[in-house]
Formats: sequence, C-alpha cells, structure tokens
Amino acid sequence: MQPKIIAIDGPSASGKGTLAKSLAAALGYAYLDTGAVYRLVAKTILEQGSDPENRDQAIQAATHIRDTFTLAQLNDPALRQDTVAQATSKSSAHPEVRALLMDIQRGFAVKGGHPGAVLDGRDIGTVVCPDAAFKLFVTASPEIRAKRRFKELQNKGFTTTYEA
Ligand code: C5P
Repeated sequence: MQPKIIAIDGPSASGKGTLAKSLAAALGYAYLDTGAVYRLVAKTILEQGSDPENRDQAIQAATHIRDTFTLAQLNDPALRQDTVAQATSKSSAHPEVRALLMDIQRGFAVKGGHPGAVLDGRDIGTVVCPDAAFKLFVTASPEIRAKRRFKELQNKGFTTTYEA
C-alpha cells in the first residue's frame, strides 16, 4: 500500500514546520523538513568556498547531496545560521537544484516503513507531491513570522535582532 502523504505548504516561519512535526508524531508518520534539505545544499556550497549564485557550483553541491543524503544531516544546528539562510535563497532559485532535490523529496514520500509521510515546504502540495492525500497551506503575518524566527534563533543560541 502506498504511504499517505500530507503536504504542508507555506512561507518561512509561518508555523508549518511545527504543525508538520506534531502531525507526524501524532500519526506515526515520517517527517521531512524540505527547507532543511535546501539549507544543506547552501551550507555545502559555502563550505566548498563556492558561490550560491553560480549555477554550476550549485548544481555540483546539489548532486552531491542527492547522492549522499541521510536524514541525520538535517539535525545540524549550523543549517539555521543566517549566512546559510541567505545563501539558501540564492541556491534554491536554480531550477536544476530544485529538480535534483525533487528526487530526495519524492523518494522520501513514497518510501515504506511508515503508514505515511508529512512533508513541509513552499511547493510540496503544488509541485513535489501534487497527488498528496491531504494538502494544507499555513501562513501568518510578516510580524508574527519575524517573531517566530527571532525566538527560534534565540533559543538556538544565535545572536540576532528582531529587526534583522
Ligand atoms: O523553511 P525554511 O526557512 O527552512 O527554508 C529555507 C529556504 O529554502 C527558503 O527560504 C527557500 O529559499 C528554500 N526552500 C525552497 N523550497 C522548499 C523549501 C525551502 O525553495 N520546498
């Protein structure tokens, strides 16, 4: 039987990750934070001294991640750093990077072992899993999103300001 897929779309810091994690825990489903996968590619680009805006360098890093990806890599606190976040918005704009990460995301969604999977990200219900059994869209005002992100970074020990 195909696992049931719950797709949760929405912008950064809208609360979709919190909702996705709680749903996955309550239902015994697997959970994939797709934003963290995009962040992993950007972090790899920065570690290699490459430029996230350079298409070929971004493709090279995304290919490496596609071929070596493990879920445990997403627990790295460094993925939350502001430098990584800034680089992520650049590297994730390359269509080839998006296509490479699609393999990881679709692979995760159809893998057995759990009765279902929850994936969250900005394009999960529309592009990655258009046939998901359930699709949710979560959003919040920019002020609330900024507050959430500020609190999240503070809790993780990063020095930042609400204004930034
Ligand atoms: O959700 P999070 O803030 O961790 O996502 C980090 C960045 O990754 C987003 O700002 C976006 O640039 C990119 N991303 C994306 N598509 C997704 C998930 C994240 O382009 N499905």
